[in-house]
Amino acid sequence: MITCRQLVECLCDYVDGELPCDRCDEVRAHLCECPSCHAHHATYVLVIRLTQLLPAAPMPPHLSARLQAALSREQRPPGEHIV
Ligand SMILES: [Zn+2]
Repeated sequence: MITCRQLVECLCDYVDGELPCDRCDEVRAHLCECPSCHAHHATYVLVIRLTQLLPAAPMPPHLSARLQAALSREQRPPGEHIV
């Protein structure tokens, strides 16, 4: 059986459905056996669901401008320079 530490390390991938099947079985087995990890998992899932219910806050204008500038730099073809 995986340890509590191993479970915590892969819990995010498990909840996102990105964990390999054999590893998921190990996580499920651990969650059935370990009350503290079971509670940790339940809390983790609850927090994710609650935060998904929150309305998205608008991005501050200065951050939006910096992001746009960074993205335009990123999308420029290699070798092209600002004159
Ligand atoms: Zn545990």
